[in-house]
Amino acid sequence: MTNLSSNSIDLNTTLLESTHDAILAVDKLLNLNLSNTQFNKKFIKGVEHKHIEEIFEDQEVITAFKDCIKTSESRKVQEHSIFHKNRTHYYEIVVSPIIRNEQCIGAMGVFKNITEAKLTEQMRVDFVANVSHEIRTPLTSIKGFAQVLDSNDKFIAPEAKHYLDKIITNTERLHALFSDLLNLSVIESRHRLLKKEVNLKFMLESVKAMLLQNYADKNMNISYDLSVEFVRVDPKLFEQALINLIENACKYSGNDANIKISNFIDNEESVIITISDDGPGISKEHLGRIFERFYQVDSSRNKKHDSTGTGLGLSIVKHIIAKHKGVIWAESEPDQGTIFFIKLPINPNKIDQND
Ligand code: ADP
Repeated sequence: MTNLSSNSIDLNTTLLESTHDAILAVDKLLNLNLSNTQFNKKFIKGVEHKHIEEIFEDQEVITAFKDCIKTSESRKVQEHSIFHKNRTHYYEIVVSPIIRNEQCIGAMGVFKNITEAKLTEQMRVDFVANVSHEIRTPLTSIKGFAQVLDSNDKFIAPEAKHYLDKIITNTERLHALFSDLLNLSVIESRHRLLKKEVNLKFMLESVKAMLLQNYADKNMNISYDLSVEFVRVDPKLFEQALINLIENACKYSGNDANIKISNFIDNEESVIITISDDGPGISKEHLGRIFERFYQVDSSRNKKHDSTGTGLGLSIVKHIIAKHKGVIWAESEPDQGTIFFIKLPINPNKIDQND
C-alpha cells in the first residue's frame, strides 16, 4: 500500500486534484493563489486571471470572500450558476478563512456541484406546479357553474340547495389546497430571494388593512410597536409570511381579539419579530407539530373558524423564513394566547459554527 503521508506537498496536490469539488484559494487582497483543475476547467476562461473580481461577476460570491477575510468567519453562497459547455451548472460555495499563526491570511472557496440535485428538485416542483394549475382551472369552472345554479331559485329544487352548498364549500377547499401546494412548491424551489430594505411599518399597514376588512365582523384590534423599522427581506414572500401568521391569529381568536406585532435586535446578530394574540392557544402536544405540512390542531376548531384552512399555512411560513436563513417558533398555553417568533439574521451569509 502506498504511504499517503510520505510527501506532504505531493499529498496536498493529490488531494486537491482528487476531489470533485472545484477549489480556489485567495490571499487577503483577493489575488488568486491556488486553484485545482476542476476549478480551472469550469471557471477560468482562457486568459489568466489574477484577481477574484476578474473571475466572478456575481457580487454575492465576491462579497462572501471579502466578508470571510474581514471577519475570519466562514460564509456560504447557496447557489451560484455558470454557463459551461452549453448548459447551466449550479454550485453551492463554502468560503472558509485560511488561518496561520492566528491571523487570517486569505480565504479558500470550495465549490460543490449541485446541478443534478437542482434539476431533480426542479422536476418535482414543475410537476406539482403543473398538476396544481391543471386542477385549479376545472375547479374554478365547477365553482362558477354551481354559483350560477345557487343564484337562481328556478334552477334548483329547495331540497337540493343543501347539496349545492356542500359542492361550493368543498370546491373552495380544494382550490385553497391547490393554491397553497402551488405556493409551497414555488417557495421551495426559490434559491435566490429578491431582497430589499423593506419598511416593516408600511408592510404591516397594508396587511392590517386587508385583514381588518376580511374580518370586519370580528372587531379585531391589530397593533404594532417596532424598534427596528427596516428589515432586509424578499418583500413578496415576507409579506406572505406575515399575512399567514396574522390571519391565523384573526381566524382562531374570538371576537374583539388583540393581535400585537413587535420587534427588537437580539445580540446584534438578528432581528426578532413577534406576533402575539390572546386567542385559544395551542397545547404542548400540538405545538411541536403545527409547522408540519397538513397538520391541523383539531379539525373541529378549524371548521368552526374557517372552512378553507389547509394545514399548509404555517408550513409555507416556515419555508419562507428558512429561505431567509431565519428560524420560527411558537410559545403558547391553552387559553393563554399564542406568540410566534421570527428570528432573522442581520448577516444571512454567515455560517453558524454548528452548521
Ligand atoms: P390552517 O390552514 O389549518 O390554518 P396552519 O398551518 O396555518 O393551517 O396552522 C396549523 C394549525 O395551527 C391550525 O390548524 C390551527 O389549529 C393552529 N394555529 C395556527 N395559528 C394559531 C393561532 N394563532 N392560535 C391558535 N391556533 C393556531
